[in-house]
Amino acid sequence: MMRKLIALLFAAVLAVTPALAESGRVLDGRWLCSDIQGNVTWDTTVELRDNFGLYVNRDWILDAIIPSGEISAGTVEDSARLLRERKIDLMKDESLTGHDAELVHKLYKLFTDWDYRNALGVAPAMPFIEAIQAIDSIEALNAYLFNRNNYIRSFPLTVSIGADYLEPDICITHISTPSLMLKDSAEYIELTQAGSLYYEMNQRMGLFMFERFGMSGEEAERVIENAFAFEAMMAEHIKPMSTHYESDYFFSLLNYYTPDELQELAGSFPILDMIQSYVYKLGRRFQVTEPEYIAALADIYTEENVPVIRDWLLLMAAESMTDSLDRETSAQITAIINDVFGIDGEANEDDDALFMVKELLSVPMDNLYIQTYCTEKQRQDIVEIIDEVLDNYHAILEETDWLSEETRARAVEKLDAIRVNAVYPDELGDWSELEFAGCEDGGSMLAAIAAIDDYVLRFMSERIDTAVDKDKWDQFAMETSQVNAFYNPQNNSINIMAGILCGDIYSEDMSREQIMGGIGTIIGHEISHAFDTSGAQFDKNGALNNWWTEADYAAFTERAKKLAAWYDGFIPVEGITYSGQQVQTEAIADMGGMKVMLAIAASQEGFDYDAFFRQFAKTWRCQKLRSSVIADIAEDTHPLRYLRVNATLAQFDEFVNLYDIQPGDGMYIAPEDRVAVW
Ligand SMILES: [Zn+2]
Repeated sequence: MMRKLIALLFAAVLAVTPALAESGRVLDGRWLCSDIQGNVTWDTTVELRDNFGLYVNRDWILDAIIPSGEISAGTVEDSARLLRERKIDLMKDESLTGHDAELVHKLYKLFTDWDYRNALGVAPAMPFIEAIQAIDSIEALNAYLFNRNNYIRSFPLTVSIGADYLEPDICITHISTPSLMLKDSAEYIELTQAGSLYYEMNQRMGLFMFERFGMSGEEAERVIENAFAFEAMMAEHIKPMSTHYESDYFFSLLNYYTPDELQELAGSFPILDMIQSYVYKLGRRFQVTEPEYIAALADIYTEENVPVIRDWLLLMAAESMTDSLDRETSAQITAIINDVFGIDGEANEDDDALFMVKELLSVPMDNLYIQTYCTEKQRQDIVEIIDEVLDNYHAILEETDWLSEETRARAVEKLDAIRVNAVYPDELGDWSELEFAGCEDGGSMLAAIAAIDDYVLRFMSERIDTAVDKDKWDQFAMETSQVNAFYNPQNNSINIMAGILCGDIYSEDMSREQIMGGIGTIIGHEISHAFDTSGAQFDKNGALNNWWTEADYAAFTERAKKLAAWYDGFIPVEGITYSGQQVQTEAIADMGGMKVMLAIAASQEGFDYDAFFRQFAKTWRCQKLRSSVIADIAEDTHPLRYLRVNATLAQFDEFVNLYDIQPGDGMYIAPEDRVAVW
């Protein structure tokens, strides 16, 4: 549930009083935030010209029910549900054979055999909890952390293996800051509404878990207080999330160190020992996202701070095990999360099992899905749309009058080099060497998780300092059957996953207009990421290498700023600032995706624009808990979904003219005030 909730709130949603619903309007009185459950009622009237998204989706919104245990409902959620149902069937289907199916079934049984798990109780956790509690010196702390067999452990930094930003053909080890309980280091200076929710969640989960481990309430409170005190020490040296949206963000990450240089940077903090106890190979060099943070660790990771570090480890350990112990633990943790976030009811047990199984066994689960549900025809359909989008982007780039010839030529070059990963990889991943003990062999969820994590880590470690095959669709890097689509700047690829091709986003029997209003705009959106503020910084090979002339980049940034300033004006929830800078990249991509679909539409005889725009509005319809919208505003880089519809469509003449939208209408923006970057 913990892993699931975090995934739901990222990925990357209560009834409110009428007074609040009133104030959920845009500054200039434009649109009601119809995403929040309860904001739209039977008394809500709407004209097409004032709020197109709400006009199209009003009846659906009034009937929508957020399923028990979930935080949102909508088209994307419906597709995700259908996908889940299919995968749950695969997870339970004993008639499937082969190593992938065996792994999936074994883990499913470990997760769902509650008699077996209840009999184990919290016993699988206790050796780790007791070992951490016994830490009383920096030597003991190091001894615990450097021991690979202590697989329940946390470092005050994140170690990962992936492509080098500068030489994307080579894999290296990346050292970044740890994920914080409150998500953003700025929360440790001034707590926002989102931060308060995370604080309460972590605090209550800690109290419950520590009680199960036999601590007194007083002791548990002290441990939690200490854990947050250590987080605050780390947070002081970690850049706030707002800096991640700055235009030079990616370049600020390009700090390279040899092992010796890294140790020198870290001073007395034993960084190499720590890394070596995790990855299986050190490698020639490290890429460090925030060297200032690494340099500060020596002052935090001290003998004097051992008690707070130990208590932080305890809380991290407790939270990492909430999904994998007995039923009481799972039920209580779910109840706490539901209460904090205002989630109604309990999640479906099959959903929880699937979440765990597909997260841990992503490649075997992917393989089963692809073999059962994907067809060559789907792949051809998607490749055709992608080709059409790429063709039309040529025309858009040609017509963009604020680009110089030089930048335009490089953009076209990049466009022509885009790799297309559609629906499923050519060659399926092979996890035939993975083994772990099941219920019959005395296994436990914790031990299975450790075995799988270690298998993946060994595999990834072998890649360090070796060449990346950029033409291969890497299942290790992503679950290819998820409900998602994305542009990867690091290999200049567009990735349209099998999971997004179900439900109302795409089906083989949709009309041309429906396909374009759904998956078409999504494909257009993803490709436009090749040319957005972050895409501008990666070249056609995926290397961090700004290919824009200074003047063109300045013109681009100017346009992006105008867009961000416009989005700053929205007030989806009273008292919370909406950040245009946070959503600008995705908003640019939404408008880019719409523009390229309109370019394709213009070449089609008898194109039904009304059907197309309605399908677009339908694709992004949703109802979310208020707490979820607040979390989105704090963290999601995508605009809220009602804005993805209205703010995007209002930029385009084709939309404005079709419905004869006039000054004074909610959907009207004067041409000179429009903000589409492309
Ligand atoms: Zn995007």
